[in-house]
Amino acid sequence: MLKENLDKVNENIKKACETAGRNPKEVTLVAVSKTKPLSDIEELMTYGVEEYGENKVQELCDKYENISRPVNWHLIGHLQTNKVKYIVDKACLIHSVDSIHLAEEIEKQAAKKNLVVNILIQVNIAHEDTKFGIDETNIYEIIDKIKDFKHIKIKGLMTIAPFVENPEENRIHFKKMKQLLLDIKSKNIDNIDMNILSMGMTNDYMVAIEEGATMVRVGTGIFGERNYNI
Ligand SMILES: *Cc1c(COP(=O)(O)O)cnc(C)c1O
Repeated sequence: MLKENLDKVNENIKKACETAGRNPKEVTLVAVSKTKPLSDIEELMTYGVEEYGENKVQELCDKYENISRPVNWHLIGHLQTNKVKYIVDKACLIHSVDSIHLAEEIEKQAAKKNLVVNILIQVNIAHEDTKFGIDETNIYEIIDKIKDFKHIKIKGLMTIAPFVENPEENRIHFKKMKQLLLDIKSKNIDNIDMNILSMGMTNDYMVAIEEGATMVRVGTGIFGERNYNI
């Protein structure tokens, strides 16, 4: 089942790229493995999937320790400052940086380990009360601070779009994210990259790709429904 699901997702990524006149090589699929057993990940690895997304620090660390060979782990969920120390040397990319306070802690812990940590700034583009992420009007304030940190590299932006029935409803948000990325890019700020745009989940990744996503985070579409009761 995992193989069929993965093939379908890759096919859809290709289709969306064709629609948008983009090269599928520009889009990285992150398989969101939260709540799923390591055995599922080990199976996907045999199909060539190297990027995995987790939303909890503890679960990422457990899987990191127990997997048969290294893969790339993405932290996609909200990160509490007291957990930063466990994750800075394990995540290839932290998608969810949403405050200067959190960035300061990442800088501190990364400095201790002499690392440079790759991050994305999470933007709450639809201004939902229930979602983490900064308001886009604050983006330059946060970038201006983080750009001077020696142990953090800003690689781009991330957003979690609203839960909607019809993915077309999120097109406007994805468009805004792309425009924001381009605005920041055009300022040529030292020491930051704006090459990653992480947006799109099972329900809306095709629309996100059409609007410029370079990284999509797909869980259910690959692994099937999650059961939080076990
Ligand atoms: C769970 C999760 C996803 C994947 O969601 P699906 O709808 O299962 O594809 C993507 N991004 C974040 C931040 C998540 O927490």
